[in-house]
Amino acid sequence: MSAHRPTVGVLALQGDVREHLAALTAGGADAVAVRRRSELAAVDGLVLPGGESTTIDRLLRVFELREPLRERIAQGLPVYGSCAGMILLADRLLDGGAGQETLGGLDVTVRRNAFGRQVQSFEEDLPVEGVTGGGDDVRAVFIRAPWVEDAGPGVRVLARVGAGPAAGRIVAVRHGGLLATSFHPEITGDDRVHRYFVAMVRSQGGPPADRPEGTTGTG
Ligand code: GLN
Repeated sequence: MSAHRPTVGVLALQGDVREHLAALTAGGADAVAVRRRSELAAVDGLVLPGGESTTIDRLLRVFELREPLRERIAQGLPVYGSCAGMILLADRLLDGGAGQETLGGLDVTVRRNAFGRQVQSFEEDLPVEGVTGGGDDVRAVFIRAPWVEDAGPGVRVLARVGAGPAAGRIVAVRHGGLLATSFHPEITGDDRVHRYFVAMVRSQGGPPADRPEGTTGTG
């Protein structure tokens, strides 16, 4: 990993891959699509995009990426999950599809499609801890989004819904090298969440498992 531009992958089985690649590039990473085990082994961090978590779950098995990805998460790979990606990172899932499993790693209970069928999508400007500082709020776009129903003691809550019937619901969290948002910053042209994740990768990422120690910079 170069000190300035770590290699950050986007899981490219389904979902809004292109938008994340663009936001990561703007956010300071060398962004690459990940579909193969060899590609997964070569990244310093990974984004799990929004899409349909039941489909991504199925494709992870078809592409034989589920176990290698679980392994890399267990080894400390920094991962950012947006929307469906948040669902995939959750240790516990409510309202999952039939037979749906998550990758896990993040000590949270996530409720899928939590905002209700009548609320397909909505937007709200939100302060996000560590991301917005004293600056402008992030435009949070929620599309059939999950929320975090319950977070373990080590999990830092970065944002909550501010108003309406879901006010107070947790929609952004971080635990160590794992980051998750219910919303989609990749579609608004605001790269601050991706920039925040790239900084996490720089500061927390160890060398990928397939490269010997010492062949990569440490940041
Ligand atoms: N509802 C979707 C799911 O269950 C997530 C929606 C999204 O990623 N925009 O995966």
